[in-house]
Amino acid sequence: MAEKIIMMAQQRRGAPAIPAILEAPTGLLSDQLARPLHDLRISVTDRCNFRCVYCMPKAVFDNDYQYLPHTSLLSFEEITRLAKTFIAHGVEKIRLTGGEPLLRKNLERLIGMLAELKTIDGKPLDLTLTTNASLLARKAQSLKDAGLQRVTVSLDALDNATFQRMNDVDFSVDDVLKGIDVAHQVGLGPIKINMVVKGGMNDDQILPMARHFRNTPFILRFIEYMDVGASNGWKMDEVIPSAEVVRRIQAEMALEPVAANYAGETAARWRYVDNDGAGAGAGEIGLISSVTQAFCANCSRARLSTEGKLYTCLFATSGHDLRALLREGRSDEEISTVLAHLWRARGDRYSELRTNNTDGLPRSANKVEMSYIGG
Ligand code: SAM
Ligand code: SF4
Ligand code: SF4
Repeated sequence: MAEKIIMMAQQRRGAPAIPAILEAPTGLLSDQLARPLHDLRISVTDRCNFRCVYCMPKAVFDNDYQYLPHTSLLSFEEITRLAKTFIAHGVEKIRLTGGEPLLRKNLERLIGMLAELKTIDGKPLDLTLTTNASLLARKAQSLKDAGLQRVTVSLDALDNATFQRMNDVDFSVDDVLKGIDVAHQVGLGPIKINMVVKGGMNDDQILPMARHFRNTPFILRFIEYMDVGASNGWKMDEVIPSAEVVRRIQAEMALEPVAANYAGETAARWRYVDNDGAGAGAGEIGLISSVTQAFCANCSRARLSTEGKLYTCLFATSGHDLRALLREGRSDEEISTVLAHLWRARGDRYSELRTNNTDGLPRSANKVEMSYIGG
């Protein structure tokens, strides 16, 4: 318990200082490594009804765990105001996440507010959400009606016993598959399926998952198990490198690489080659290799925590308190100028440093939890 309180205290930091000279956003921010600001992930709750072993292990996220009180959460109005500021600096894609985002009450209202926003070119935002699908079958239609475009669903195994060992709350595979089907029927696509591969736990599910989602409209993405947060007891030898995932699938089903949709796409794309070599119809997979092939050089992603802290890297130990600026009554121009300064100062490249020096990297015990800043 003491340890948990210390972790939260270390994540606290005062409101960022307001620069003396205020500036209007140009949509062209660039950080220390010449990376623009294009994507924003917003965590709408730090709570979850799953206890995935790699994310919110029961030993830490138990009955004593102190979640944020409701007054600490950004309101939908506060989120929308910050989203507008991020968009003015070039953000074109917003992903709602958590915790489990569908647990946030009246989320459809927030989606409706965000769906009205336009990029600086006047285009609709790319608005999406990542979910464990526990409430998806029930909510898909209202999410679609509110203006959500698509969803990404997390599913780590097809074998029910394995999946239940991973989510640790006895949620069944069939219920996730049902959620995916309903989301597909209401048009929340293209749907991506995220599978975190943890060696010795679900790597025997790589092939069953590939077989199941081959020849479907769903894009299965294999994610390397990451050393995010400080509670999952991550070990390098539990990471199954993406190259190994491809090797195992190729032993049964021919694959060929596909060009990236855009520069800096996080998932490397492969498609199934049909027996006749035409490569049509069987679908594609993605490999997200944040451990073995870091993509920091193209990382244009900011994260907004449930209580309104800006994190410029998934592996950061502290965030910048934008909520304090909102609640101090700062103007849009002041908040926008602060954001510009924070992004320009950004030099994060944690995964790249880890890849280059896997054994020597000093591991901080204070890294923020993924359920708090969102995956
Ligand atoms: N609860 C929602 C879900 O699970 O889809 C959204 C939040 S969750 C933190 C977002 C994504 O992060 C999920 O796809 C999850 O599998 C992934 N994730 C969580 N911990 C991870 C870890 N240690 N390594 C790799 N991916 C992880
Ligand atoms: Fe919950 Fe998602 Fe984390 Fe699993 S990965 S514990 S579903 S937030
Ligand atoms: Fe981006 Fe940080 Fe991940 Fe690198 S480690 S890709 S900078 S979030």
